[in-house]
Amino acid sequence: MNLLHILSLYFKLKDDPGADIYPRVFIFGGKAAPSYTYAKEIIKLINAAADLINHDPAVRDMLKIVFIENYGVSLAERIIPAADVSEQISLASKEASGTSNMKFMLNGAVTLATLDGANVEIRDLVGEDNIILFGLTDQEVFQYYHDRSYHSYDYYKNNPVLHRVLDALIDGSIPGVQAEGRDIFDSLIKYGDEFFVLRDFEDYALAQKKVDMLYRDPLKWQEMALINIANAGVFSSDYTVLRYAAEIWNVNSKTRLF
Ligand SMILES: *Cc1c(COP(=O)(O)O)cnc(C)c1O
Repeated sequence: MNLLHILSLYFKLKDDPGADIYPRVFIFGGKAAPSYTYAKEIIKLINAAADLINHDPAVRDMLKIVFIENYGVSLAERIIPAADVSEQISLASKEASGTSNMKFMLNGAVTLATLDGANVEIRDLVGEDNIILFGLTDQEVFQYYHDRSYHSYDYYKNNPVLHRVLDALIDGSIPGVQAEGRDIFDSLIKYGDEFFVLRDFEDYALAQKKVDMLYRDPLKWQEMALINIANAGVFSSDYTVLRYAAEIWNVNSKTRLF
């Protein structure tokens, strides 16, 4: 979904070089398990899109994609404190908790998120004004499963931005990913879009627009960042161990919780 949105910005800038888009660098880090072919295809597509966009003079200084190789703790230590926006965009109900969302919050990034996993706790801590939320709720996802009423093709058909971006996966616009682009296109359109990517896309794009606008006001952005940092203490490991000691293990601790 993140990549689909970046591609939509890319096409927007190609059509209208004066489009009012705040310059952005999108950083990806991650690994696919050896047998997780589909995840590997997504990684290849991100890298192919990075190749295209980063070498296109038409969007120079406006749009950039960085895919960090061999993501691990040492890289996380450097990237997480440097990030402005923490993208926590799993489909609601899919993420058990999430811990990188806590690391980003503690380091002053503003969270752009679905109401999933610990994003819900972050929302409760910082309030709706200091997190940027979008997408289906878990209850809405369960309702779709129950009704079997989600048809991703309708979103492809009815949303011209999404249509253009999805076509780019299969029409050669992104060089070198014929097979991967086709598999991803098919998974989103032919095979039901298990993660409701097309359903959440428009709302995600609106949330990204909100990020784009908010970031232009540095004082406002710093206020949001500070409110996040100030409320991140409950995620500290000291606090977590103390709560385990008190509530789960029932052992006496000499340290007080507060
Ligand atoms: C925190 C962390 C993860 C796990 O991130 P989640 O958001 O909990 O999935 C994975 N890899 C590295 C290097 C991390 O630091």
